[in-house]
Amino acid sequence: MFSSHAFAKPFLVQSNNNKHELIFAEQALDTMTADMAKGCEAVSLFTSDQGSAEVLEKLGEAGVKYVALRSVGYDHVDVAKAKSLGIKVANVPAYSPYSIAEHAVALLMALNRKIVLGEQLMRKNDFRLDQLVGFDLHGKTVGIVGTGKIGSAFGAIMHGFGCKLLGYDVYENSDLVREANIVYTSFEKLCQSADIISVHCPLNGATRYLFNKHSFSQMKRDVVLINTARGGIVNTVDLLDALDRGIVGHAGLDVYEYEKPIFFQDHGDFQIKDELFQKLRSHPRVLLTGHQAFLTNEALAGIAGTTIGNLDAWASNGTSENEVA
Ligand code: NAD
Repeated sequence: MFSSHAFAKPFLVQSNNNKHELIFAEQALDTMTADMAKGCEAVSLFTSDQGSAEVLEKLGEAGVKYVALRSVGYDHVDVAKAKSLGIKVANVPAYSPYSIAEHAVALLMALNRKIVLGEQLMRKNDFRLDQLVGFDLHGKTVGIVGTGKIGSAFGAIMHGFGCKLLGYDVYENSDLVREANIVYTSFEKLCQSADIISVHCPLNGATRYLFNKHSFSQMKRDVVLINTARGGIVNTVDLLDALDRGIVGHAGLDVYEYEKPIFFQDHGDFQIKDELFQKLRSHPRVLLTGHQAFLTNEALAGIAGTTIGNLDAWASNGTSENEVA
C-alpha cells in the first residue's frame, strides 16, 4: 500500500479483516521505490503515486500482477501500458460523492463570505466589516462542468440554495434535469453566463487545460471558480492572470496541476521551490486546500471497502468488475 497515510490506515485494516497481507509504506510509488513491491502480487496506489510506463515496467519485473487504486481518478496510471504488460488495474469507481461536493460548497462559502479573512482580522482584534462583504447565492447562476456523481451532488446542494444551474457534460444527467432544473449548454455559453463555475469532470485529453486564457476571457467579471476535480484541468498561469485582471474574482482550489511533490506531506522548514504554487498560495483571492475534498469518514470507509473488494475479487477469480485496464 504505497503512500499510506495515518488517516486511511485504520479503514483499510478494518475492511481487510486479515484476509490479505497488507504492507503499509509511507513512500510514494515512483521509479526509485517500485522495487519495494518485490514479492507482492498486488500494489495499491493513491493519487500521489506514479503509474507511468517506466514504473509499471518495474512493477511487472517485480512480479506485480494487480494495481488497486484508492481513487476514482486514474489519470496518474498509464492504463494502456498496464494492459500491454498484463497488469490489471482497478479503481474505486464511486465513494461518497457528497464528501467532495460538500467540500466544493465549503470552498465557495468560505470565499464568498470571507470566513478566513474575517477570522484573521478578528484574531488581530479588528472587528470592522469593510473587507468582508459577500453576495447571496440565492438566484445566482452556477455552471457545473461534469455532472456525474460529484457534479450532480454539488448541483443538488446549489439547487437547495436557490441557484440556477447550467451544465456542461458529454452526457446529460436526466435526474439532475428533473430534480434540480439544470439546463445543459455549451462550455462557451456556460463560461459566458455563470456567476460561479465548479469543475467536476475527469482529467483527460479533452479536459486538460479546459480552463485557459481563451475560456477565462469569455467569463463574467468576478466569476468564482471552484476546482475539486484535477489540477491539470485549469492552466494555473492563465488563472493567475485572470485573477489579476479581475475576471476571476475568487478561486477555491483543492487540486493543483503540479501538486504531486507538494501535497500530502509535512515540508516543515523546507522552502517549497515551486514559484507558481507560491504565487497561487499567497494570492489574496485564492483559497487552497491540499487535495482533502474526499476526507470524510464515509468516503474513507468507501475507498477502503472497494479497494479490499478489488483484492478479494482478484484473489478469488482473477477479475474485478472495477477494472480500468
Ligand atoms: P463521474 O464519472 O461520475 O463524473 C464525471 C463526469 O464528467 C461524467 O458525467 C462525464 O460524462 C463527464 N465528462 C467526461 N469527460 C468530459 C468532458 N470532456 N467534458 C465535460 N464533461 C466530461 O466521476 P465523479 O465521481 O463525479 O468524479 C469526478 C472527478 O472528481 C474525478 O474524475 C476525479 O478527478 C475528481 N475527484 C476529486 C477528488 C478530491 O478529493 N479532490 C476526489 C474524488 C474525485
